Amino acid sequence: MVGVGLLVILGKQGAGKGTQCPRLAERYGVPHIATGDMLRSAVRSGSELGQKIRKLMDDGHLVPDEVISEVVAHRLILPDCARGAILDGYPRTETQAHTLDELAGQSGITRCIVLDVPTPIVVARLSARRVCASCGTVYSADPPPGPSTCTVCGGQVIQRADDTAEAISERLAAYERETKPLLDHYQMRGLLTHVDGQGTLDEVFARLVDVIDGAAQA
Ligand code: ADP
Repeated sequence: MVGVGLLVILGKQGAGKGTQCPRLAERYGVPHIATGDMLRSAVRSGSELGQKIRKLMDDGHLVPDEVISEVVAHRLILPDCARGAILDGYPRTETQAHTLDELAGQSGITRCIVLDVPTPIVVARLSARRVCASCGTVYSADPPPGPSTCTVCGGQVIQRADDTAEAISERLAAYERETKPLLDHYQMRGLLTHVDGQGTLDEVFARLVDVIDGAAQA
């Protein structure tokens, strides 16, 4: 695979993956594959898949491995992934990590970056997070009350159903239980880099670019 290759971005909910990944995708000219966004769009469309997973997602639970892996497998074979992709939200379990190894084939995963942010900070970020119900632009209700209308598309700015206190705590518990062990999976293969996710958006972005450009030269 010529290009940036397959980059996996890990980190707790609220670590900034959804903010940084689109910028990385633009810089490197590869698609941003955000499984949460894909699943939310399935829920919005009312498709059979959407109906099946809506409650799981609203309650902060993971959807079954085979469901999400099929969604990702169909996405990765599209021609725009030929030079690579930024994976945000996948893999989240060891089973998914093994499936991704198979999907990535011989070219494999270029690098796995984990955005480190302490739990109390991500809880505060998620509790204040608001999103445009139409285009998904992310806002903050800190300081309150935050915007009610999206400045990009004029849509209604709302709180995500899984950004309630209970769902946040369930999601962070799922991260500790299911996703954190993946750090070892990538560490053992020499693919893991930690990046400090605190600081301004531009500072964090610059750190990510340094890592990715360094990996490309290695
Ligand atoms: P967050 O990382 O903040 O939970 P996302 O938008 O990435 O937000 O994901 C939202 C929800 O979508 C998750 O709580 C889960 O229900 C579902 N989901 C996304 N990716 C996966 C995955 N790889 N495996 C299982 N469920 C997933």
